[in-house]
Amino acid sequence: MTIRSVRGVHDILPAEASVWQRLERVARRVFEAYGYREIRLPMFERTELFARAIGEVTDIVQKEMYTFEDRSGESLTLRPEITASLLRAYIEHGMHVQPKPVRLYAFGPVFRHERPQAGRYRQFHQIDAEALGDDHPAVDAEVIAMLVEFFRQLGLADRLALEINSLGDAACRPGFRERLAAYLRQHAAELCEECRERTERNPLRVLDCKRAECRPVLDRAPSLPDHLCAACAENFGRVRAHLDAMGIRYSINPRLVRGLDYYVRTAFEVTTTELGAQNALAGGGRYDGLIALLGGTQDAATGFAIGMERVVLLLAGEAQPVRPAALVIPIGERALERLLPIVRDVRARGVGIDVGYGDRKLRAELQRANKLGVEHTVIVGDAELDREEAIIREMKSGQQRTVPLAALAADLVALGGQA
Ligand code: AMP
Repeated sequence: MTIRSVRGVHDILPAEASVWQRLERVARRVFEAYGYREIRLPMFERTELFARAIGEVTDIVQKEMYTFEDRSGESLTLRPEITASLLRAYIEHGMHVQPKPVRLYAFGPVFRHERPQAGRYRQFHQIDAEALGDDHPAVDAEVIAMLVEFFRQLGLADRLALEINSLGDAACRPGFRERLAAYLRQHAAELCEECRERTERNPLRVLDCKRAECRPVLDRAPSLPDHLCAACAENFGRVRAHLDAMGIRYSINPRLVRGLDYYVRTAFEVTTTELGAQNALAGGGRYDGLIALLGGTQDAATGFAIGMERVVLLLAGEAQPVRPAALVIPIGERALERLLPIVRDVRARGVGIDVGYGDRKLRAELQRANKLGVEHTVIVGDAELDREEAIIREMKSGQQRTVPLAALAADLVALGGQA
């Protein structure tokens, strides 16, 4: 019996790799231009980090974490998100003394034991960016602008929507929470079971419910932006003004929430209508209390996470097969020995070359060239060797020309330049 991969966990095959590489390239280029620097973080941490950072009562911590005891009996968890690790590292390495905001980004796999379906996996990948130590509304606007720029450079700007909201702060959210909970209790009979349960535990999360049966009640529910205190309303106005100044289009979604108490003020999400239920491509917001909650300084923080698989799904048509510039076909051992150093030289200059090892028939090698999709082959047999020549064959037309072996490397580099 063969062994298959774990449910909800996928291989990224070579045919898709070019899209993943492009995503990473664009993210690095955009983020570095905004002053963000890469931090590489471990994929597992002490369980208590996530329990504290994400909250004991959340779905992630209660139901979705891959938690295990290692051989020394310590409870460890495969990271279900990147932010907690990033803040742990920020605190551990005393990065709060650096000029603020401290701008960091990280990529990599995250692990959640969710029910797998299209666009939802148990191992998936996130790109995470965080700006730490500055609570100016322009930092929120800058983080959002950077996210929008990332999608724009991928050519996705017209296929996505940006939604923003303000969640208020410790001054105004508790009052809103009470008002919302009272309203939800009044309408409990018209809500799904999960919403009824959340009404007591975390009423803000009820606003997030996607079920059609809950819609009418939620559409009429008290709205966060209407209940902000003066300071939060002013802050939200400034974030919007900065976005407007940069010409960034958004809509205000009063039902956009983050479930945890340390999230304050700005929250945002990038969505698409093209992926069915899994419509969120990226989400983020301000979480000023979290660094202190993890034992660090009272530093502000804002950031986002992008779900890479979902972005790749949107770009699926754009995978580019990577082809060598030429297949070099020596006929026989002597030709192989003569060609190997030339091939090595051309590859060293970054040009992709495939090579036969001299033991297959010319016809078989030409078939292989067609399967590889290479446009040119180089053929050298004993007769060519004796004349210090090589034949370059253009595969589509079948046209052949002869070049001196001494010039072959330069010719191949030139072919690589055309490809
Ligand atoms: P979150 O950390 O839950 O805010 O998720 C951030 C982003 O990660 C979302 O906007 C999605 O694009 C992506 N994401 C979350 N959960 C999954 C999953 N199970 N599979 C694939 N992508 C996911």
